[in-house]
Amino acid sequence: MHSPRSTIIEPFALEHATVATGDEDGRTLADTTVVVDGLGRISKIGPSSSTIVPPGYHRLDATGKVVSPGMVNGHVHTFSKGRPLDPKGSTPEGQRKLAKLLHNPAGRAFMYATSKSNIMTLLNSGVTTVRSVGDVGYELVTLSRQIESGRVVGPRILPSGPLLAIPDGHGAPLIALESSTPEEARATAETNIDHGARALKIAATGGVTDSQVPGEAGAPQMTTEQMRAICETAHANDIIVAAHAQSHEGVLRALKAGVDTIEHGCALDDELTELFLNNPNSLRGYSALEPTLSAGLPMKLLSQQALNMTDVQMQNSGPVVEGMITGARQAHEAGILVGVGTDSAMPFVPQYGTWREMQLLNRFAGFSPAQAFHAGTQVTAKVIGVDSITGSIEVGKSADLLVLDENPVDDLRTLERPLLVVAAGHPVWRPSVDRFEDMEAQLDEAYGR
Ligand SMILES: [Zn+2]
Repeated sequence: MHSPRSTIIEPFALEHATVATGDEDGRTLADTTVVVDGLGRISKIGPSSSTIVPPGYHRLDATGKVVSPGMVNGHVHTFSKGRPLDPKGSTPEGQRKLAKLLHNPAGRAFMYATSKSNIMTLLNSGVTTVRSVGDVGYELVTLSRQIESGRVVGPRILPSGPLLAIPDGHGAPLIALESSTPEEARATAETNIDHGARALKIAATGGVTDSQVPGEAGAPQMTTEQMRAICETAHANDIIVAAHAQSHEGVLRALKAGVDTIEHGCALDDELTELFLNNPNSLRGYSALEPTLSAGLPMKLLSQQALNMTDVQMQNSGPVVEGMITGARQAHEAGILVGVGTDSAMPFVPQYGTWREMQLLNRFAGFSPAQAFHAGTQVTAKVIGVDSITGSIEVGKSADLLVLDENPVDDLRTLERPLLVVAAGHPVWRPSVDRFEDMEAQLDEAYGR
């Protein structure tokens, strides 16, 4: 796997490519040249017959290949590789033990190295922008700054820092700051923003993977008032807020508080649909959904033995996963923005698996392949607020590009093995990742190849 390091961008052109635009209708451009300037931006795109490549630019012949926007993943964690869980580690005692190990200088250095390795896997898999939604500390703030300054080549990162939860709530204490009142909630939001977070994440309800009692997943945890305080603080800083929410009541409270993206979600009724489409307390007047089917479907389709989950976790996963699938389908039909987020680092969600979320939106939530690819590029860029700089191939935007064997609209699986990844103008030659072949075989069997 490559972890390139560079400060200089050598301008280049990809010539004679078929461009897969990522538009909702699957539009392509034949025999096209894309020119990338020394600032890492797309400076020209047009027919190869009439697009002049400036002298001194490298010229790459992409005849027979497809050039597409880089993938955008709006829901990643980078504290692990995404192998199945040790259920003992997800008890409160296990979490507290791990928290003690990690929340100190040596732990922080370890977490930076772990996160960097996982971010490089995301890059090598073709992902050029990520939003994290729950980190152990501020390791991704550090890394995002190194990438932005050009010292490290990597995807654009919107780091969240630790998520924001109630005492002993979902993710606490390992990856969450805890608060009991709106005032305390505001303070935790400010702590993350002061440390350089560019996204915030709330645990609005319990989750499956750390649940200890039946019914815990999806049970509302944080009050609307606490979440409102966090949203006000974030929005005043032009930062959007994500909320982990896995039940009707949890989603309703989070939307009312002004949360900008709902993670996982639930089956929708008219009240929720209307609030998604028109949410006066959100930053932009609407809220989006990231169903994270990649994290849910293994729990529905794989055996308890394969999952290595407790009886309680299995019991809690059933209704939550059904809600995620139904909600994704309903949101798509209702015209709610549906983003691609994988929940990487969760069991069976490897860091290289962003393409699979598009496969799952296509197979389980009513998306055409073109709509799924649109979701994984342009839509998610909009959902996380970076669509003015990335998500599509347009003059002036960042050169976040993939070179592929085929058009993703014809076969989404071509995204599994990009031939070249370009992140803000930096090429990653011969991108490669370490695949967990045993896990991939289980997932292929569950989802169909
Ligand atoms: Zn998550």
